[in-house]
Amino acid sequence: MRRTKIVATIGPKTESFTDLRELAERGVNVFRLNFSHGTHKWHGEVIDRIKKLNKKLVQPCAIMLDTKGPEIRTGDLRVPVQLKKGKELVLTVDHDADYEKDGKVTVNYDAFTDDVEVGDKILVDNGLMTLQVIRKRKQDVYCKILDGGELGSRRHLNLPGKDVSLDSLTDKDWADIKFGIKKEVDFIALSFVRSPKEVLVVKKFLAKAKANIAVIAKIETLAATKCLEEIFASTDGIMVARGDLGAEIPFTQVPLVQWDIAQLAAKFRKPTIVATQMLESMQNSPMPTRAEVSDVFAAAWQRNDAVMLSGETAKGEFPLKAVDAMREIVLETERNYLQKRPIRKMEPDCARSEFCRNAGNAAEDLKDVVAIVVITKSGRMASLMSSCRPQVPIFAIVEDEGVGRKMQLYWGVRSFRIKFSDDPEKTIKAAIKEINEQKKCSRKKGVMPDLKGKKFVLLSDILVGKKFEPALQIREF
Ligand code: PEP
Repeated sequence: MRRTKIVATIGPKTESFTDLRELAERGVNVFRLNFSHGTHKWHGEVIDRIKKLNKKLVQPCAIMLDTKGPEIRTGDLRVPVQLKKGKELVLTVDHDADYEKDGKVTVNYDAFTDDVEVGDKILVDNGLMTLQVIRKRKQDVYCKILDGGELGSRRHLNLPGKDVSLDSLTDKDWADIKFGIKKEVDFIALSFVRSPKEVLVVKKFLAKAKANIAVIAKIETLAATKCLEEIFASTDGIMVARGDLGAEIPFTQVPLVQWDIAQLAAKFRKPTIVATQMLESMQNSPMPTRAEVSDVFAAAWQRNDAVMLSGETAKGEFPLKAVDAMREIVLETERNYLQKRPIRKMEPDCARSEFCRNAGNAAEDLKDVVAIVVITKSGRMASLMSSCRPQVPIFAIVEDEGVGRKMQLYWGVRSFRIKFSDDPEKTIKAAIKEINEQKKCSRKKGVMPDLKGKKFVLLSDILVGKKFEPALQIREF
């Protein structure tokens, strides 16, 4: 059973029901919808197809809505502009400017002229082109082209090292979040988070709307890298959004931030996703570069919860091959290190996480234990168990469909849905029956271990008098 999960971005190359089914069968656990592109109609139709597909899947996939966030972008151009190295380009916040008439490219952010200073570098399209500010005049910013290229419409601009004064949540983001609540997505990934404040505002909004949606903070700004611990404390999970991050801070520092986040994940017991350009070359090639293979290996080695595909599955020529490659790299990594790596050494925390740590230790010490079974209403106990990174798989027994889908993001967790009984013993029996059923119908060999007569660690509530108390037991399938 694969422990590291796969998030795949859906786009024009993977939007059909057949594409989505293929992706799920090849190992995608979470479908990501990038709201920087597409209309509510398009996203709504994809979500409906995923929901239809989920009815047929043994392990239903989770849905992640990724907000656009407050991006600085150039405006529409009738035809792409060729930027030539050494020449000048004028950027303007005058929204009426027209490149054909005025020779100026519009920028969507009104305070742009205040935020940039002479000498600043501006990265265009995640660094495909680079400009340098040479002078400012009223609404216009005159730039020298350091690295040229073709500038199309609505290209993303980054101001490396700058903390811009943009609102972190735009009107579009709020409209998209409301849409996500209506469509009952499982995760909302928040773009360009700069502090825990934005995360807490959205979490409060979701709680008020009684939406069971987990928030993933995307780390992609300089400001966020300076308050990682505070953001970890506020969020349900973290995404290392390396594309923008590598333009906002020197790209040499991206692996360090990724490393710090993997360490903090253990401290805060929260899931992490490593994203962007993991198998970038597979947009045009059926085989990854060796450097990309090493990158996926490193993310799995760091025991991140998930690795993510973006353009590879959304608009690439080989979306299925990209998922196959990612799955196989992760499996190879896990086959070679899981037996060797002990559970995480974690600092003592609350009583529940201590319980999980003990369960993980018991599974490690008793060599004939093949799984940890967690009966979990909200999913919290299973996520705490996952954060210990035990050597055996975690079977989360859940009642709620949404809780079951969310488990798809957590490292090493597989979920099983049953109806809980007031009698804990009946719940345990139903759980074992469901686990055996799924074992029978998992078509691919080796997806689940052989269980009959094998021992498992059980984390559940038992009745003590009239009170439910958490208990740790060793049982047999
Ligand atoms: C990123 O910048 O790495 C990222 C994941 O965000 P987006 O794809 O929305 O730009």
